[in-house]
Amino acid sequence: MQAEIKEDMPDRINLKKIHSVKETYQYSLDSSFFSESDHPLLNGGMIDAEVGVWRDDTDGSYKVNLKMNGHVVVACDRCLSDLQVPVKVDEMLKVVLGDEDDDKGDLIVVSEREPLLDLNTLFYDYAALSVPIHAAHAEGECDAEMESRLSEYLISKD
Ligand SMILES: [Zn+2]
Repeated sequence: MQAEIKEDMPDRINLKKIHSVKETYQYSLDSSFFSESDHPLLNGGMIDAEVGVWRDDTDGSYKVNLKMNGHVVVACDRCLSDLQVPVKVDEMLKVVLGDEDDDKGDLIVVSEREPLLDLNTLFYDYAALSVPIHAAHAEGECDAEMESRLSEYLISKD
């Protein structure tokens, strides 16, 4: 199968124009990408992303191979200063057209009336999924100044 590398970087892929030949889109997501989002968790980052998309003629669905490599910046749970969290994603997603937009984990339903796959949402979601529930610096690597300033406001410690 001949792969096609696209030069442009659409935010949304029109699925009606996707056929059985895989198309690959490459993106560089930097801090401006994350600051434009209203995501409460992600303060910044640097991620190389690649989206491979093609139509599966056996059942008419679309296959999306989402690859992301890099890191995001979040606030450390302990000292609140910047913490880099590595992001490494290689997911195979199935996309079908349906009545309305829906997300069921590995299966994404895109409205038939507006068959556009929103990549930014995928990038945000998978970047956020890479962040552990308790994200903190390794023991002893917290910002000491920030930590002591925070402890002044701390009434009790559990
Ligand atoms: Zn910290």
